Amino acid sequence: MIKTDLTEFGLEIQNLQKVYKAHEGNEPIVALKNLDLQVKKGSFFGLLGPNGAGKSTLINILAGLVIKTSGIVKIRNIDQDANVREFKRSIGVVPQETNFDPFLTPFESLDIQAGLYGVRKSDRKIRQLLHRLGLEAKSNAYMRSLSGGMRRRLLIGKALVHTPEVVILDEPTAGVDIELREMLWNYMKDLNARGTTIILTTHYLEEAEALCEKIAILNKGELIACNDTSDLLARVNLKVINIKYNNLHLKKIKLPEKASLKENKNNKLSISYNRNEIKTDQLLDCLRSQGLEIIDLSTEEADLADVFKLLTKNN
Ligand code: ADP
Ligand code: MG
Repeated sequence: MIKTDLTEFGLEIQNLQKVYKAHEGNEPIVALKNLDLQVKKGSFFGLLGPNGAGKSTLINILAGLVIKTSGIVKIRNIDQDANVREFKRSIGVVPQETNFDPFLTPFESLDIQAGLYGVRKSDRKIRQLLHRLGLEAKSNAYMRSLSGGMRRRLLIGKALVHTPEVVILDEPTAGVDIELREMLWNYMKDLNARGTTIILTTHYLEEAEALCEKIAILNKGELIACNDTSDLLARVNLKVINIKYNNLHLKKIKLPEKASLKENKNNKLSISYNRNEIKTDQLLDCLRSQGLEIIDLSTEEADLADVFKLLTKNN
């Protein structure tokens, strides 16, 4: 086996553990259990998991907001503990909550943030950043006059003032309208195309499917999957077939044993089955043998939501 060069990872996590201390008679909570994770430099990586899985704990550890119990966290070869300042400079975290000083303008807010990161005045590109975020017109407006969507874009700007090589976004599109969502998608894609490693957590599985080349699924503090998105999708062999038929009076339809009926109304049938158990031909033969006249037919492959359900249901 070829030994991989460690420097190629945008982010590397070894044996990471977080135990929240017990209080008020409760048991301690193990939020992360000996987690190992490698994110390739320059990749677009999705981190998914149900509520309470440990996603925010992980992100907050990376952001320096939560102290890990044990383990190693690195960006390329920059160790979070050994090289605190350089690590901080290499990462930008977009938290989920927006929390702004109402008396600052977007320009001031970004400028102060750049100062906190030690970016020299001459190196600051605040105007350019505001322009790319579509906030140019609001540069000097008070924060309280900004819409929710504008604030969220500013939050992204705050994570980017020091041009970090790794950007982590904690549900950036939660509750935003379609227009802004598309804008954020394009922005993230653009950022990634310029070489930034992006780690995205999201509740919208179709978003992860569309953007992320690789996806890790966290459940109860453990990784239950970490695969290329396409491989993850191939893991479920569920298929759905939609049929439009002609026989108005056909009432009861018998299906092969392992296929299940999802819907049957207005002369439209929707049947789900496992590709490994039943062949499509077999299913259609069965339907035709009952006198079903098929007018139209389409199939759907499993999506990430199916994979997610399958993987997290028994854990
Ligand atoms: P996620 O972001 O995936 O929903 P979290 O990281 O927020 O998951 O939570 C993981 C587990 O750790 C949950 O059981 C949660 O209750 C617990 N937890 C999170 N933050 C704290 C905290 N500050 N103190 C104690 N327990 C916490
Ligand atoms: Mg969370």
